[in-house]
Amino acid sequence: MSLIAVAVSGRGLVDPDEPLIYADDEGFLRGRAAFETTRVYRGRPFRLERHRARLWESSKRLNLSIPAGVESLVAEVLAAAGPVDAVLRLYVTPGREDRREPVVLVLVAELPADLEELRARGIRLIPIPLGVDPPWLLGGVKSTSYAANMVATQKARVHGADDAVFVARDRIVLEGPTTNVWWRRGDTLFTPSLELGVLAGVTREALVEAAPALGYRVEEGVYPLEDLLIADEAFTSSSVREVMPVAAVGGRTFAPGEAAQALQAALRALT
Ligand code: PLP
Repeated sequence: MSLIAVAVSGRGLVDPDEPLIYADDEGFLRGRAAFETTRVYRGRPFRLERHRARLWESSKRLNLSIPAGVESLVAEVLAAAGPVDAVLRLYVTPGREDRREPVVLVLVAELPADLEELRARGIRLIPIPLGVDPPWLLGGVKSTSYAANMVATQKARVHGADDAVFVARDRIVLEGPTTNVWWRRGDTLFTPSLELGVLAGVTREALVEAAPALGYRVEEGVYPLEDLLIADEAFTSSSVREVMPVAAVGGRTFAPGEAAQALQAALRALT
């Protein structure tokens, strides 16, 4: 995703090509940093307040303090980016190891180019064990320690799929590396419970709210992978990819589904 505009605490807007992080920033050295990603529609971020609240919560769980002025950095970056359809990313790091001055980075970047192509054909997932018994220590925290998530996506690609769906030790469905996972049987939508330690997706929350008006009941719970495999349709939700139909989970294929289509339209209407 190429950068459009960047701001950093203490300095404001900077040249997106300028190096900004010190070699001894703990976010880089140890992956102890919190982040958020939200989509920007014609220059306006979707549910920024929910992302802000989650950033604060992740920072608390990671024992990070957030310097004042995040909101004005966000406003500066959005003004510099203009009325774009893009991705807004916020990062909070503890700063340099011996100085402990937290750093905030705010970036606006271009959307991935292949999103609508993927939506038209649906994404293929493969189940990958996360090797945890939920809830795990940092479950539900959006930290930059996402190496396992990124490796899972790469592993899925090596196997000819697009992405992973994480399962816990006893084959309980969790989430994707950067998405929440959903499926439908009849008029009921199922998605793993937040009590499992999956991320409380802002898009997930918007879909939970939108579903009843579209004639769907939402059930949040603890489900084995087999429940997903016998569903009528499946989809993922996330800020960047929005509602993405699932075309396959391992060898089980799914036809494009009515709920994914209706929820994507409802989500767009909210933006
Ligand atoms: N689950 C994980 C692990 C994520 O990283 C993300 C997105 O960042 C999501 C779910 C979806 O969350 P949201 O809808 O807030 O983008």
